[in-house]
Amino acid sequence: MENRKKTVLIVDDTKTNIDILLNLLSEKYDIVVALDGESALETVEENSVDLVLLDIMMPNIDGYEVCRRLKSNEKTLDIPVIFLTARDDEDSIEKAYKTGAIDYIRKPFKPIELLARINTQLRAKELIEHLNFISSYDEMTGICNRRKFFEISEKKFAQNRDGMYAVMIDIDNFKNINDNYGHPIGDMVIRLVAKTIASFVPEDAVFGRLGGEEFCIVCNYSSLSCVVENIEKIRESIEKLEIVSDSGESIKFTISEGVAKVSDEIKNLDELLKYADKALYEAKGLGRNRVVFR
Ligand code: GH3
Ligand code: MG
Ligand code: MG
Repeated sequence: MENRKKTVLIVDDTKTNIDILLNLLSEKYDIVVALDGESALETVEENSVDLVLLDIMMPNIDGYEVCRRLKSNEKTLDIPVIFLTARDDEDSIEKAYKTGAIDYIRKPFKPIELLARINTQLRAKELIEHLNFISSYDEMTGICNRRKFFEISEKKFAQNRDGMYAVMIDIDNFKNINDNYGHPIGDMVIRLVAKTIASFVPEDAVFGRLGGEEFCIVCNYSSLSCVVENIEKIRESIEKLEIVSDSGESIKFTISEGVAKVSDEIKNLDELLKYADKALYEAKGLGRNRVVFR
């Protein structure tokens, strides 16, 4: 897991409080400071903050409101917020947790306890990020796995389906490569194909490995000629690749691609992919190493 120094944002309107925290934390963490709620929210937008230590009583926007806003913004909702406050009545504590705080520490705090609690929350965040990563990306190729691919492209479909295309891609006669050269070479081919396609897909495209030797691109292209050019370039580039076996033999491979465009009768992403899949099936039937549009 990553070893970069974590960034802690201290939000407090009292300078002496900030000085105490800086003394305690700045050796272990990168520290950013905000003296009020507004600048805390701005700082979080501008910096990559891993944890927020938040005072409650501040002029204008108080700590509760800062926490509420952090938790209602998709970009900041995963940042753990620890309230650090002189208030110790039950209502204040309950309100803090209700606004989305992960922990609540009373001032004056015990330094060892504060350090331990910060460390616990940062460790938990790191583990969650790691689990999110391994459940979203394909270990072999590093591109989106099936689950992540559907998650992002369904969102994309719902947001803006204008000019949206789905491209189903499958390596041709891949079983022969496994049978003739073995699985490790087969894996190398899958990795190289994924890397090559990834280098050509537009930046805003969703590209994933749907299974075995099957990939899919979902993208809003500006015109049919853009799609044709992009998809043909991918096919041609893969046709030119080769892997050399241990015995010096050149291993060549190709892909087939099925393309479908969103239309009024297509109601959801699954339907779009079904059309692309049909086109892919046709490309296979017509002799492989080709693109079929539907
Ligand atoms: P077609 O041109 O019709 O697509 O034929 P094909 O041989 O590529 O298709 P088929 O679906 O018959 O075979 C795909 C093979 O891919 C079968 C499976 O064992 C293999 N495969 C699936 N996942 C992996 C993988 O991760 N690594 C390797 N090396 N092989 C895999
Ligand atoms: Mg295949
Ligand atoms: Mg297949």
